[in-house]
Amino acid sequence: MARQDVLSAVKAKPEVSVLVIGGGVNGIGTFRDLAHQGVDVLLVEKGDFSSGASAGSSHMLHGGIRYLENGEFRLVSEALTERNLMLRNAPHYAKPLPTAIPIFSWFSGFLNAPLKFLRLIEKPSERGAAVIKIGLIFYDWFARKHRVMPTHKMMGKQEALAAYPGIHPDIKCVARYYDAWMPYPERICLELMQDGEGANPSAHALNYVSAVGAEDGAVTLRDELTGETFNVKPKVVINAAGPWIDFAMQALGKPTGFIGGTKGSHLILDHPELFRACNGGEFFFENHDGRIVLILPYLDNKVMVGTTDIRINDPEEAVCTDDETDYMLGLVSRVFPGLKVGREHIVFTFSGVRPLPASGKGYTGNVSRDHSIAVSEAGEGGLPFPVLSLVGGKWTSFRAFSEQAADAALQRLGRGRKASTEHMALGGGRDYPSEVAGWVKTLADETSLPVSQVQTLFERYGTQARAIAGFMADGDDVPLVNNPAYTRRELMYLAGTEAVVRLDDLLLRRTLMAWFGGVTVALLEEVAGVVGGVLGWDAARQSAEVARARDLLAHKHGLGQLSQ
Ligand SMILES: Cc1cc2nc3c(=O)[nH]c(=O)nc-3n(C[C@H](O)[C@H](O)[C@H](O)COP(=O)(O)OP(=O)(O)OC[C@H]3O[C@@H](n4cnc5c(N)ncnc54)[C@H](O)[C@@H]3O)c2cc1C
Repeated sequence: MARQDVLSAVKAKPEVSVLVIGGGVNGIGTFRDLAHQGVDVLLVEKGDFSSGASAGSSHMLHGGIRYLENGEFRLVSEALTERNLMLRNAPHYAKPLPTAIPIFSWFSGFLNAPLKFLRLIEKPSERGAAVIKIGLIFYDWFARKHRVMPTHKMMGKQEALAAYPGIHPDIKCVARYYDAWMPYPERICLELMQDGEGANPSAHALNYVSAVGAEDGAVTLRDELTGETFNVKPKVVINAAGPWIDFAMQALGKPTGFIGGTKGSHLILDHPELFRACNGGEFFFENHDGRIVLILPYLDNKVMVGTTDIRINDPEEAVCTDDETDYMLGLVSRVFPGLKVGREHIVFTFSGVRPLPASGKGYTGNVSRDHSIAVSEAGEGGLPFPVLSLVGGKWTSFRAFSEQAADAALQRLGRGRKASTEHMALGGGRDYPSEVAGWVKTLADETSLPVSQVQTLFERYGTQARAIAGFMADGDDVPLVNNPAYTRRELMYLAGTEAVVRLDDLLLRRTLMAWFGGVTVALLEEVAGVVGGVLGWDAARQSAEVARARDLLAHKHGLGQLSQ
């Protein structure tokens, strides 16, 4: 159903069993789960889907080996099980990731790690080979359920120097293990949303609609495109506003202090030498200050570097600062001292705020990364419906958290669970071929598109490439003048079928076009023309969208050359 039709339907019939506030991965995961239980559910997202914390992550599907020293065994175990499930359910967007930990001492941290575990010290000291080895034995143990990847291995110095010739010569050894990563987290959210809507005609998700108030047993929503407000009457509200949870509670008239968010920023570097130095795997290591940081070879030969962990009150203010940039550029030399990495290599920056539980801990790395549901029952604080706030959590464990949230809502609706999402394939992960080359060749033959183009579509969209390639082959198509890696009809398909409302939805979240450099005003104008042709934008709207995208990319993503 088109956005305008959903808006009209909601206004005509404002009663809904569940209202989900927030279209990050936890809200959308809960939406999908409830949709599969046959519940009529409405999700509202104040911006685009997956534009909050879910767009700011380090892109890792992991158990978080670091959390073992905080004693968070439940979280690590759950996250590793979920990581393994994602590799099966979403093989197009969850990829195995060889991970290397360079180690600079044998026994450091041997005393401190248990002290930290016992909460007798806060800040970690350097972790040596022995401590890391013990951690990885636990990690392998927790990952045994649905195991799909090899267990860890310690590489001696000579072996490590051979595998990673640029690595710091002072290393003692390298621990190598497998985790997983997501090249397209924003597209995972989109597909979860589409799966939910596809499963249930009474499940609707609206982007650019905010929850702004509560009155007379109803929640007031605002269409962020028109400013118009209207009410819905839910039986249960799920507050999945991530780092904005307390702001959403404030808007509902029930102030809370659940969240103590911390900002984390990342850089995307165009640095082919660094990309090659990683040898196809991530480096996950301890920086000089004891913080765990990462260097991740990304798509298109780019490299992601991150991250920071800085307390912040207002998530809207999250942006990568000069100090953070210096910190992240500097961390590369800890592992690859021979490589020169500078501001000239940065093609994109992004920041997100972790929706961590409020905590008095001085060292932010010690704040629990686990999730919980804060419940305000019907009648509390003057609200006639229960509000379930989804506090904390990892991207990795969203499915389990969503299942718990859906169960809590079902219980309050007096309904039971009909379906499990545990083994539910996602979007373009459905009917995933065991032999990709053959699948691609067959589709290329069917559509007469070049094999290389179909291969690219498969990497971007999994088996959804079938529908996209069919659409592309169904009319005259040409590559974009200003970015030939995409064609006009590919963008037309996305604009017409993927809830695109703003130009930046397409540049930042339906595609990664803006992430890898080469964004010019001419490209923005060209893409606005293609999208506008599908969405009926007149010249003024196209100009407004280009201006908005320039502003956003310049001020939130480090593309200062686009500032107006
Ligand atoms: C720097 C960083 C690195 C991370 N790295 C990893 C990692 O590598 N692996 C991992 O597993 N996890 C990682 N995480 C954690 C993970 O990204 C988050 O825990 C997760 O994305 C939170 O999702 P969410 O849906 O709860 O919140 P969000 O994604 O923030 O979603 C909440 C949404 O609610 C919307 N909203 C707010 N108020 C309203 C309102 N009034 N009305 C309507 N909508 C509203 C917001 O616009 C937002 O889109 C990282 C997080 C950060 C910030």
